Amino acid sequence: MLDNLGNLERTHSCGELRADDVGKTVTLMGWVARRRDFGELSFIDLRDREGITQVVFNSEDAPEAHAKAKEARGEFVIAVVGDVVLRDQASRNAKLPTGEVEVHARELYILNDARTLPFQLDAPAESLASEDLRLKYRYLDLRRPQLQANLRLRHRVVAEIRRYMDEQTFTEIETPILIKSTPEGARDYIVPSRIQPGRFFALPQSPQLFKQICMIAGMDKYFQIARCFRDEDLRADRQPEFTQLDVELSFATTEQVYKLVEGLFQGVFRLIGVDLPAPFPRLSYAEVMERYGSDKPDLRIAGMELTDFSEVLRETTFAPYAAALTEKGTVKGIVVRGGGAMSRKNLDDLQEFAKRYGAAALAWIKLGDELSSSLLKPLGPEVVQQLAERAKAEKGDAVLIVAAKTKTVTASLGALRNEIAKREKLIPENVFAPLWVTEFPMFEYHEDDGRYYSMHHPFTSPVDDDLPLLERAVQSNETELFGDIRAKAYDTVINGVEVAGGSIRIHRRDIQDLAFKALGMTPEVARARFGFFLDALGYGTPPHGGIASGIERLMMVLVPTDNIRDVMAFPKTASATDLMIDAPGEVDPKQLGELHLRVVNED
Ligand code: ASP
Repeated sequence: MLDNLGNLERTHSCGELRADDVGKTVTLMGWVARRRDFGELSFIDLRDREGITQVVFNSEDAPEAHAKAKEARGEFVIAVVGDVVLRDQASRNAKLPTGEVEVHARELYILNDARTLPFQLDAPAESLASEDLRLKYRYLDLRRPQLQANLRLRHRVVAEIRRYMDEQTFTEIETPILIKSTPEGARDYIVPSRIQPGRFFALPQSPQLFKQICMIAGMDKYFQIARCFRDEDLRADRQPEFTQLDVELSFATTEQVYKLVEGLFQGVFRLIGVDLPAPFPRLSYAEVMERYGSDKPDLRIAGMELTDFSEVLRETTFAPYAAALTEKGTVKGIVVRGGGAMSRKNLDDLQEFAKRYGAAALAWIKLGDELSSSLLKPLGPEVVQQLAERAKAEKGDAVLIVAAKTKTVTASLGALRNEIAKREKLIPENVFAPLWVTEFPMFEYHEDDGRYYSMHHPFTSPVDDDLPLLERAVQSNETELFGDIRAKAYDTVINGVEVAGGSIRIHRRDIQDLAFKALGMTPEVARARFGFFLDALGYGTPPHGGIASGIERLMMVLVPTDNIRDVMAFPKTASATDLMIDAPGEVDPKQLGELHLRVVNED
């Protein structure tokens, strides 16, 4: 028989009682985390979101409660009225904040029972049940203290963001979810219109155009904790729907944006007891790619910067290197301190890793007791020695070298830098290394379809000095110049994670027209897709700019975790399904009919 809650009220949480509370009579409520029965005495670890308290049932002092406690199984919901007692020295539990005391139960109420759980909640991280099973029973998985802590931290982060943005006189404005496509480079989720057959809304990939229109509307300083939707292939740090802090301000310089965002992140990191020194270092895109092989370098990793070997190899006759150096390619390497002791197997593993990034091979030089290298034969000992010197490698180090198209060299060495640092445990814990990456290229070339795309989005302004270049490139159709145009675009990177990205926008109609043209849009296409926005630009648009910060990515750095699903309440799997509610699901043919849709079976 289950008991009623009646008028019973909690006096304390399960994480609250300390030695100071000894002698109090308290009422606690929560879930049975664990029950141990020793005959006369039995124990229940009572859990709520604040922690765990040990409750003792004694057959002499409270025979009724003691007898009833036998019925309580794992995850039953109970209320206990009892006295706070100091534990004897020997049975104190230093691992529990409440571990100095225990509650001697006088009364026990069983408020609800629970079926046997499909998996164990308190299993150690390495032996947790499969993630799919835990996602199906998400409400159980969320009872785990780690996930509870993550979601509560997330709440505090968002609360701090709102407090800070308000203090900075920003207005939170909600923008619609049912809109027309606002391209951020991903596929849209679309929603059919019932009232207008054959027409569709798109879910926002971000509120980009709405926030710019807020500037045109004189709102001056906008922010929103915005839900965004992108139908793209999921990676470890992506979900089809996610939340971002979205910001836009009028009459904004990049300096103002940097200052605003630095203050914001400083406040957020204070929540985990970390002081981020500001201003954050700034490095241009060109510089980070050159030095770290990544547009989101992890500055916690000391050194391991890329060395360019083209000079040393200028005269080489070794065919793969000579070829790399003539066609838009390069030869670069990184030094692994202490890597002279790397085994053949280690090197083979790294070789395989580099190949995933398109490198045909990973050459190596080891400065062990004697010099050894996969390049000794083709290049000769003298050149190999020169390469090691150029890389400033010392005795005991190794140099890893890739020759290929610049893009491949950069990508593979950048990834190797992170991978080796991870494997060799070269990344210090509890260190947070922020930076700004600035002056991203305005366009990037996609080899698959041989054309340029916006690197950020089509509303990003070129840097003032490069505007003439954009004009020339578009007007005289010199597409090869597109790659050289820099944009007023910036990312905030912390510990190798892009936690925010934004830009100063184009606020002039003539420049926006140029940008669309550069992207191969005819005026008719531009009008059909963005007519409303082009019109709005013509009515006194202030210069403006902004940024957006992915809340999940930020949380992943704060927690820290590599799994985005650890920082959201109800995430989807890598195949974009919600295993708990079993979505996406089929809909009634009648519903489809109302939407003027028919499913075509493709078999
Ligand atoms: N809308 C952009 C994004 O979601 C951010 C921005 O430019 O403010 O990446």
